[in-house]
Amino acid sequence: MAEETKKGLTVDPEKCIGCGLCVSTCPAVFALGEEDGKSYVKDASGCETCNCQAAIDDCPAHAISWVEETAENAEPAEV
Ligand code: SF4
Repeated sequence: MAEETKKGLTVDPEKCIGCGLCVSTCPAVFALGEEDGKSYVKDASGCETCNCQAAIDDCPAHAISWVEETAENAEPAEV
C-alpha cells in the first residue's frame, strides 16, 4: 500500500532573522511570532498563488524549506 504524502513547509527558527519578507509574499501561509518575531508556518496549504516557492527562494536567511508530510506526522485530515 502506497503511503500518501504531501508537501509541507517549515521555517527554521535558528536561521530566520524575522525580516517579514515571507509574510509579505504569502500572508496566507506565514506569520511572525508575537514573542520571538520569527516566522512560522500558520497554514502550509494556504497558498493559492505561488506555491510558496517564491517565499523560499527570496528568504535571505534560507530558513524556509519543504518537508515531506507522511500520514504519520501530518495533522489529521478533514474527512
Ligand atoms: Fe524569516 Fe526568511 Fe521569512 Fe525573513 S523571509 S521572516 S528570514 S523565514
